Amino acid sequence: MKWEENVRKVVPYTPGEQPQKAGVIKLNTNENPYAPAPGVAKAAAALNVEKLRLYPAFPEKTELMEALAAHYQIGTDQIFIGVGSDDVLSIAFMTFFQSDKPVFFPDITYSFYDVWADVYGIPYERKALDADFQICPADYCKPNGGVIFPNPNAPTGVLMPLEKVEEIVAANRDVVVIVDEAYIDFGGTSALPLIDKYDNLLVVQTFSKSRSMAGMRIGFCMGHPALIRYLNDVKYSVNSYTLNTAALALGVEAVRDEAYFRECCQKIIQTREKAEEELTKRGFIFPKSYANFIFASHKTIPAREIFERLKENDIYVRWWNKERIDNYLRITIGTDEQMEALYRALYEICG
Ligand SMILES: *Cc1c(COP(=O)(O)O)cnc(C)c1O
Repeated sequence: MKWEENVRKVVPYTPGEQPQKAGVIKLNTNENPYAPAPGVAKAAAALNVEKLRLYPAFPEKTELMEALAAHYQIGTDQIFIGVGSDDVLSIAFMTFFQSDKPVFFPDITYSFYDVWADVYGIPYERKALDADFQICPADYCKPNGGVIFPNPNAPTGVLMPLEKVEEIVAANRDVVVIVDEAYIDFGGTSALPLIDKYDNLLVVQTFSKSRSMAGMRIGFCMGHPALIRYLNDVKYSVNSYTLNTAALALGVEAVRDEAYFRECCQKIIQTREKAEEELTKRGFIFPKSYANFIFASHKTIPAREIFERLKENDIYVRWWNKERIDNYLRITIGTDEQMEALYRALYEICG
């Protein structure tokens, strides 16, 4: 077809499977196994459907924004909210990565970064993690058009100490450095305090993992007010009403219930510690994880085989047929019961 000559062609991001079958143990997309805070259910029940005829408020004029500002003790002019952090990241790519020089990110990382770079025509270079899956800050201290990495990194779970994050931000004052903290609440140290010191740092977080709200699509980022203004300008040039009325009403309850949030994160950290022991007993090796998943390789049995055998048992984990990581499984931390089922299945497969 002739019109295809003028089509933007992209290879889309492939998310993990969302099996609809009942009884599946889903440890493949890093969702939280616990329900959102109790206040979220109450807010959902109280949702005034009549009001849905109206357009939603702009996110920056909402209680959600105020709750986030109060929780993180920053100004509302230092926060930008989007439809999941994927939306925030995509708008940030569009806004800040306009240089002819390549944007740098790790070779093993969130597989959406190269998809956004491709769709927006942004040049990029991948920097190899070392043999222990660590990011080498020196690789990022060369001329570039911007830097992005997750901390902890995905899918490895490896955390970079804050001093190294700062080293990268400080060495790149002429470009924007984005730290994707999707998993920071599971034991890492956030770079958030650095936003007052560095006007080129953008810290991105999400409600999808630690706040159990992947289905509601709420993400946000924090940075210097000038960065936030540029993001808003681009967002309002694409679609101004991004968050819907329900997300704005429900999200605020997830932020307000600090105790529940801490408790869920703590439970996941404890289950992760237990999982480290159990996986070690069954012959797996893995880097220390600071996220709600473990990136593990078995000493003798190929990852693909374990992945397929688990799936036959209705246990879904994530496996990528990709260079350097094709012998690893990324296992999301579920409830203790779900993890017990996993250990039993692994005992059958690996002994
Ligand atoms: C899950 C994830 C996101 C995106 O999450 P949203 O659901 O869009 O908020 C972003 N970055 C990384 C590294 C992730 O793992």
